Amino acid sequence: MSSRLPADPYRLINMATWCKLLATFAIASGVLLFLSSWGIAWLFVGWLFAHDASMYQWATQLADVAWAHPMVFSGLLLAHYVGLAVILFVSQLLFRKTTMRRRVRKVLGLFSIGLAVLDVGTWLLVPVSSLARRFLAPLSIAEGILLVWMLVLPLKQMWLYHRWRGSGRKVKVVIVGGGFGGLYAAVALDKALGHHRDFELTVVDKNNYFLFPPLLPSVSVGAIETRQVTYPFRRIFETTNIRFRNALVESIDPASNTITARFETDEMGSESCLPAQLSYDYLILAPGSTTNTFRTPGVDRFAFFMRELGDAVAVRNHVIDCFERAAASTSAALQEELLRFVIIGGGPTGVEVATEMHDLIEHVLLARYPEIDPTRPEVWIVQSGNQLLPGWHTRVVDIASRQIGRLKIKIVLDNRAVEVGPRHVVLKTGERVATRTCVWCAGVKSSELLARSGLPLDASGRIRIKSDLRVEGLDRVFVLGDAAFLIDEKTGRPLPPLGQVAFQQGSQAARNLVRLLSGKPTRSFRYFNFGSLVSVGEHFAAVHLLGVKLSGFLAWLVWRTLYLVKLVGFSNKIRVVLDWSLDLLIERSISQIQTRSPEVVEGPLSNGATEPVAAIQSVLAMENSLTARSEPAHGNE
Ligand SMILES: Cc1cc2nc3c(=O)[nH]c(=O)nc-3n(C[C@H](O)[C@H](O)[C@H](O)COP(=O)(O)OP(=O)(O)OC[C@H]3O[C@@H](n4cnc5c(N)ncnc54)[C@H](O)[C@@H]3O)c2cc1C
Repeated sequence: MSSRLPADPYRLINMATWCKLLATFAIASGVLLFLSSWGIAWLFVGWLFAHDASMYQWATQLADVAWAHPMVFSGLLLAHYVGLAVILFVSQLLFRKTTMRRRVRKVLGLFSIGLAVLDVGTWLLVPVSSLARRFLAPLSIAEGILLVWMLVLPLKQMWLYHRWRGSGRKVKVVIVGGGFGGLYAAVALDKALGHHRDFELTVVDKNNYFLFPPLLPSVSVGAIETRQVTYPFRRIFETTNIRFRNALVESIDPASNTITARFETDEMGSESCLPAQLSYDYLILAPGSTTNTFRTPGVDRFAFFMRELGDAVAVRNHVIDCFERAAASTSAALQEELLRFVIIGGGPTGVEVATEMHDLIEHVLLARYPEIDPTRPEVWIVQSGNQLLPGWHTRVVDIASRQIGRLKIKIVLDNRAVEVGPRHVVLKTGERVATRTCVWCAGVKSSELLARSGLPLDASGRIRIKSDLRVEGLDRVFVLGDAAFLIDEKTGRPLPPLGQVAFQQGSQAARNLVRLLSGKPTRSFRYFNFGSLVSVGEHFAAVHLLGVKLSGFLAWLVWRTLYLVKLVGFSNKIRVVLDWSLDLLIERSISQIQTRSPEVVEGPLSNGATEPVAAIQSVLAMENSLTARSEPAHGNE
């Protein structure tokens, strides 16, 4: 996957009115200061020498002032410099936000700084150098023209701009889901049309933040802090015209062009979730996918998932909890059960969770729990196929498998979990594995919303779409990302549920929608596969990007850099860099985060993650009391 969110070329248009007023005031006062410093200098020199003169002669007279009245000259110099500094600062600040091409902007910005530096030097040299006196006039004219232009252009873009010429009535676009697909579509649409008065763009999401799933395994072991993988939608959309609604979409009615969503609200008495209908002219559906349990008994209740932020936090707390309990226990059997961590699924998520967990145990927890025999903790990966990372390039698979083997992570191939309980996982071969921790990373299935969408589904429950990303027969509905079923023209295979597919589709859907609104035909989506990358523990990664295969520490640096680039939010990037750097130098925290809800209000916004966590916690609490009572018996075994 690649690329950060594109820069917004409508930054000046979409700036809040008070910001525009402030910027305009700054420009006006900078120009006034600059001109008045010139004017005062001009008047002073004319007054001191009692006659008007040409620019060159004026510069000569300025030199005379410098010799005859050094204090007056210093005052003039200071006023000129302050005016120049203000105007230069404001122009640089605003000019950067114009829609002009980046390179041209940069060159002009640097040129204006160069002229300003020359100006400073020339004024200083006026008393002593005839060349400086000759140079002052042309320099001032060139500098004045450039700076005025650099200020007028942003002012124009800020206040006067072309509006999109559409049908004339308000076009409502609703995006369901602000994940990779939905967010990229929203940002691209806002870039193209967001400033238009007759265009309304709304993103509806059950969470109030964008989640960056690729870093969830790192959160689940505390390598990076929880909030770093999320970014609030209201912050992302603050300089755009995108409206955000925090609601769970329950159904879609393509016949009446409406969606039904439940909004959390305290209005109207006791009802905390109000159903409401939103109408749309165009719908972009990107609700992602959910964990596929393959109806395996016990998974919903006793396994941990790795899809939501709460899942990662729950895993982290649970692993530390298991260590605390194992440290307090004298029973070998109980310790074995507590210290065996079974990851179901050998895809990239399962591999990353297993290796991150190994790193946490080996490099942090064992040092802090001297009561625990270091040979006791075990991490397992159970994979139904005959290799890890199915579908990946064989060389990457080999490297990753070797590294995982080196870490002494137990790989169980050609097997799968057929039952999960509070203290065990049963494998297809009949083996009953004693464990308190089963993390289910075994696959995805389509979002439940799709079944209630009235849209045509394929066998796997995803929505069949045409190559321009619209649903067959429904020209006003686009479906993106994990929710969409589309055959890749290049490979002849369905596009995989990946972030890089979703965000490429998001941008394409936005482009196609703009074309539709302008009366042009849509274009087919073409997927560009950037490649794949997986981190396999101990600062080691296997990467296959744009045809280049890399492994080891360098690949690990590439892995981290790419994730960093893709992460949304500049502050998040800084925080993650800090977390990663500090993790190399300072031990990460192993404090458990205890949560307590005074009263559980069942609402649609609570995600499924809480159920297994609650189930496991209650079982652990029960076990704790049982263990405390049965400890001597175990100890005698
Ligand atoms: C642990 C993990 C690691 C991953 N690593 C990678 C990786 O390294 N590279 C890669 O390419 N892909 C990776 N993926 C896959 C990638 O995250 C998904 O393919 C991608 O996020 C799909 O994008 P999407 O827009 O379809 O859905 P999502 O990004 O899942 O977004 C769906 C959005 O819809 C919202 N939503 C869902 N249902 C509703 C509803 N009923 N009402 C309102 N809102 C709703 C959700 O809150 C969410 O914000 C990973 C996934 C996971 C879970």
